[in-house]
Amino acid sequence: MAAKFSSDSPSFAPRLNLIGGEWRKASTGKTFDDINPVRSAGFQPAGSLGLTGPAGSQRSIGRFPLSTEADVDAAVRAASEAFKTWRKVPAPQRGAILRRCADALAAEKEELARLMAREMGKTLIEARGDVQEAIDCANLYAGFSRTFGGQTLPSELPDKFAMSVRKPLGVCGQITPWNFPIAIPSWKAFPALLCGNTVILKPAEDSPACASAFGRVLMSAGVPAGVFNVVHGEGEVAGAALVNHPGVAAISFTGSSETGKIIAENCGRQLKRCSLELGGKNAQIVMDDADLNLALEGAVWGAFATAGQRCTATSRLILHEKIYDRFLRRFIDAAKALRLGDPLDAKTQIGPLVNAAQLERVENYIRIGIEEGATLRLGGRRARGRGLNAGHFFEPTIFTDVTPSMRIAREEIFGPVCAVMSFKRVDEAVSILNGTRYGLSSSIYTRDVNAAFRAMRELEAGITYINGPTIGAEVHLPFGGVKETGNGHREAGAAVLDFYSEWQSVYVDYSGKLQRAQIDT
Ligand code: ADP
Repeated sequence: MAAKFSSDSPSFAPRLNLIGGEWRKASTGKTFDDINPVRSAGFQPAGSLGLTGPAGSQRSIGRFPLSTEADVDAAVRAASEAFKTWRKVPAPQRGAILRRCADALAAEKEELARLMAREMGKTLIEARGDVQEAIDCANLYAGFSRTFGGQTLPSELPDKFAMSVRKPLGVCGQITPWNFPIAIPSWKAFPALLCGNTVILKPAEDSPACASAFGRVLMSAGVPAGVFNVVHGEGEVAGAALVNHPGVAAISFTGSSETGKIIAENCGRQLKRCSLELGGKNAQIVMDDADLNLALEGAVWGAFATAGQRCTATSRLILHEKIYDRFLRRFIDAAKALRLGDPLDAKTQIGPLVNAAQLERVENYIRIGIEEGATLRLGGRRARGRGLNAGHFFEPTIFTDVTPSMRIAREEIFGPVCAVMSFKRVDEAVSILNGTRYGLSSSIYTRDVNAAFRAMRELEAGITYINGPTIGAEVHLPFGGVKETGNGHREAGAAVLDFYSEWQSVYVDYSGKLQRAQIDT
């Protein structure tokens, strides 16, 4: 099927909520602005009251509904109604719809990627990857649809049959960030739908258009009305209403640790199932025997792709002292050569930060690093130059003389900032890598297989790459982290199916008499 729409047109990403298969305004009629980060430096989002450029204009992608509790309630009612029939659709048929979602996303991949680049600023090549991840994800869970299920097990008693079956939870709330605006909603939605749940997505305020476009594509692929819903708005209002609604069975959240803790507390009070994917402070170790060209490419990609705005970004580089000087020099040169610019330009390697608040946060960490005594070796300021002045661009930044106790070595910055440290022995490198409250992604470059396997055993991280950068997860493996990166759940792969389903153990006694387990055995 050829793409029918252009991402510039409002119908490509309806600026409305998707509730029960209908596109609706917020019940109050209020809206917020979706700001283009390439052209909006100094532009204050005006919400429903101020002025904005027309949709598709340089600085505004459009205005989206500022939803309240009433809109969330309408979505919960629609999703609960749809659940009554969706839960009974045979899983292979649900899988067939997911397969059509994959095809529909593939048909619109380029336009979706362009919208994403414009809306949140990742480069086109990365935006295509984001959409591809959603396609892979839809195909993965479509594939599972004929094999996922429970177990048959022997009973300890004669003439008795024992099995476990998966059942859906009901309405699942999904609260997502802006940095993977189609991939993350897809990781959450497709396995939830496969398991027979219905979904309400509350996307980030910085990427509503991608979420609406995702919803439209799912509808066009045959996802029935009410099975997938989108409610736009602020986290503290629409997001909180979703978390607190008694009709929502589970919340899957990706975002900051601060917000994750609030959500977990609110879910805890209701004994609501809750999956959290939170921050990271990922590191790449480079051993003295590593292929340094490969390690350099990995470090540059890991630290600066998506301008460092990935939860798996390489924000620490831990170098063996023997290669420290050589490697650092090359790392600085490579970072300096990166080309900042409009993400829609194919030559651009780094786009802008997503918004003014993010820019201020990164600047604040530069101040903190300098105050703590780290040496700023590259960048550390807003990027200036042709095509950059109007956007939230920040120069690739490298700190040296960093100690593991400094805040820039422990806290998530979410920008193009890398803290470089050195080590003598591998156990020292491992302890530096492990020395944060997070544990998402980790990487080690070495040619020594023994060192690689020891690192695999010792690194406190949900994801470890040997001779690869800290970024680059694939959808069929579990994704998530240890310590304060999450609360023990995993997304993606087969692992997430346990989050989105409830186990039911079924015993069928065909002996015709009372048989007592543990007593009549
Ligand atoms: P970041 O933008 O740094 O990832 P957040 O963790 O605040 O920050 O945002 C991730 C998502 O969580 C967004 O969709 C946001 O609207 C939502 N959110 C923010 N605060 C809350 C809250 N109190 N309850 C529910 N959702 C929230």
